Order: sequence, then structure tokens, then C-alpha cells
Amino acid sequence: MRMDTICVQSGWKPKKGEPRVLPIYQSTTFKYDTTEEMGRLFDLEDSGYFYTRLQNPTNDCVAAKIAELEGGVAAILTSSGQAANFYAIANICQAGDHIVCASTVYGGTFNLYAATIKKLGISCTFVDPDAPEEEIERAFESNTKAVVGETVANPALVVLDIEKFARLAHRHGCPLIVDNTFPTPINCRPFAWGADIVTHSTTKYMDGHAMSVGGCVVDSGNFDWEAHKERYPGLTTPDETYHGIVYTEKFGKGAYITKMTAQLMRDLGSIPSPMNAFLLNVGLETLALRMPRHCSNAQKVAEFLQAHEKVEFVNFAGLPGDKYYALAQKYMPNGTCGVISFGLKGGRQEAVRFMDSLKLAAIVTHVADARTCVLHPASHTHRQMNDDQLREAGVTPGLIRFSVGIEDPRDILADLEQALEQI
Ligand SMILES: *Cc1c(COP(=O)(O)O)cnc(C)c1O
Repeated sequence: MRMDTICVQSGWKPKKGEPRVLPIYQSTTFKYDTTEEMGRLFDLEDSGYFYTRLQNPTNDCVAAKIAELEGGVAAILTSSGQAANFYAIANICQAGDHIVCASTVYGGTFNLYAATIKKLGISCTFVDPDAPEEEIERAFESNTKAVVGETVANPALVVLDIEKFARLAHRHGCPLIVDNTFPTPINCRPFAWGADIVTHSTTKYMDGHAMSVGGCVVDSGNFDWEAHKERYPGLTTPDETYHGIVYTEKFGKGAYITKMTAQLMRDLGSIPSPMNAFLLNVGLETLALRMPRHCSNAQKVAEFLQAHEKVEFVNFAGLPGDKYYALAQKYMPNGTCGVISFGLKGGRQEAVRFMDSLKLAAIVTHVADARTCVLHPASHTHRQMNDDQLREAGVTPGLIRFSVGIEDPRDILADLEQALEQI
């Protein structure tokens, strides 16, 4: 099936007499006839549902659809994008381990890797994703277990050179984890370029309507954990909490996601509710229709702003003069996403006055919504960062993040026009 068809048809495949629409299995638990039957599930001897913290049929159908969209072998839904990015690391790292991460990642991910996992004994070295390979090479240590980046960074809009990062990661025996939230698999499939694991904040375009917070981790099945057996003992040596099973031996290409379900979901429990998974699925059905519209609207907005005398700069990889134009053409020839960022002449004060004058575009802590929205990273999402960290993350004090929706572009441009007149 092609992408548009997968969006609509994949996941829930009803048999004779079953509901046409994905049912919401709003049930914590599932019934069995014998003690033995249920016991085998606990031993991972049989697959089946027993408790929604571990698995739920509604959630699994939606995860399967996202796995298919990304071209992966397995996926798991999480309760948020943050949980997805935490689990992706926690599944293969433990105290004493180290990761390498692009410095331009989303503020929440930056915090998670710079501060929170550090308290758990996992250290992170942030690298400039545009630096030459030899320079990034120096960030690796003998205990480096993963490399992380964002296809299109939120909000810096830096396009990741996925092949460069995959080469670096693989040279050091590590998987490359790519947060593909902004382009979605409609615009970029990182596995085709060498990424091993993809994460998502499904809260953004996948849901697309700002209805539910969620995340997803997808495994390509390509990383050979067995070839680096001593580095990934959690996957390649017996799990005593499951009667000594070895995930790579028992589940092959499904090892990474099965371990995440069996250990992290069991112990940490960041599951989405089946209701939220259902809403996510409704969003996914139109993802392939919405993404091109977001991109073409954003292109018009970017061109309008670039030509405006009150605008100092525009970041959008669809503009031929953009620093990331060439990388975007290579990895995302059909467009990156609907998010652009720009700075007004002046700075912080002008940014605030402009934002307060917008009528159609709403000030919300959100992005990648069907409705146009706007945010000031320095006073919102990146508030916790000092000026140096802001600069490293590609965020200046006057930077405005503008998430172009799927409205008629003429209305969006008119709103921008009148707000710009106010400054
Ligand atoms: C929003 C976002 C996250 C965090 O996701 P939540 O669903 O808000 O927890 C992670 N990565 C990127 C790129 C994001 O845009």
C-alpha cells in the first residue's frame, strides 16, 4: 500500500461482522478461561492481552499503522513525546552510559537529556549538528550507546544530515535515534537514510487537531544488537525478571520494542488511554492530505515574510536561500513541515507586540495543528534556558515560531499583514 492508503486502511482490519471503525477497547483487562492460559502470557510464551498498561488492542492497531508508515518492524505508543524520547534511551542505556545528541533538539528533550537522565547516571554530550564529521566524532566515548537528533528541529528548524549522523553512530556501534515529529513519515522516512529508531510526539501533526498528547517509538529492526552484544546486555543477556529470556534470541527484529513493552511499560507505565489512541488514529487518517497543505501554506507565508520590510530573517528550509535548503531538498523533496520561524527588526518587544496583534493565529503552547498558531520560544518553551543555551539551540530572544495551519492561505497572510502594521 502507498502512504495515503496506509493512513486510511492500515492498523484495524475488521473481520466479518466486526465494526468498520477501530473500536475503543476501554478496558483495563482481558478475560481468559484457564489459569494456565493467562500464566503463559505473563511468561511471554503466548502473545495476547491481559492488562492495558502492557498492551491494548486499540493502541496496538494505531502503533502498527505508524510502524507501517515509517517502514519499521514494530512500534509502541506512549503517553507523550517526552515519554517516547525517554524510553528510546532508557531501553538501551543504564547508569554509567553516555549518549550523543544534536544540541538543536526540542527544549523538553534537551532538558530530559541534559538534566533528568543525568540524575539517573546517563550522561549526554550535545553536538552542533552542522559541525564536520571529525568534530562530532570527538564527542563519542567508549560507553556511548546511542546518537539522537531531530529530522527538523523544533523550533530551530535545523535539518539533520541523517546519513552523516547514521555513519557516525554506526562507526561507533550505536543506533541512530531520530525524532521525526515535524516532517512525519509523509515527508521523510529516516529509516531509508540509515536511522535505526524513530520517535514521535504524535501530539503534533499525527494527531493534527490538538486533541491529545501522545508519543510513539518505532524500530526499523535494522540495528544488529547481537553484533554489539557486550554493549547492549539488556537486549542480549537473560532478563531475570522474565525467567531469563534473551530478547534478541526470542524476538529477533522485535527485540527492542518487546523489551520496551515488557520492562519499561511494565515498570514505568507511560501508556496512552485507548480513547487517545482512537483520536490519534482519526488524525492519522488524513495525515497524508494535511501535510502537503501545511507545507504549501508555509511556503507562501515564508515568501511573504521574507519580502516584508519589517522582517529581519525567516528560517524555513523551503526558501532557496535558507541554510538548510539543500539538505531539505535531499531528505524532504516534498516539503519539510508547516512550521517556520522568523525574527522582526527590533527584537523581543516587537515580537511580543506583533504576537498580541494577531487575530487568526492563536498564541498557544502548541505547534503543528490544523489551526495556525504562534509562540515566542524565549518566553515560552525555552524559558528555562540561559542566553548561551538559547543560542546553541538556535533560538534568539526575538524569534517567533509560527505554525502554519491548513486554513485558506489568503486569510493567514491577511492576519500577518495587519499584525505587522501594528509595529
Ligand atoms: C513536542 C515535541 C516533543 C515532546 O512531545 P510531547 O508530546 O509534548 O511530550 C518532542 N520532540 C519534538 C520534536 C516535539 O516537537
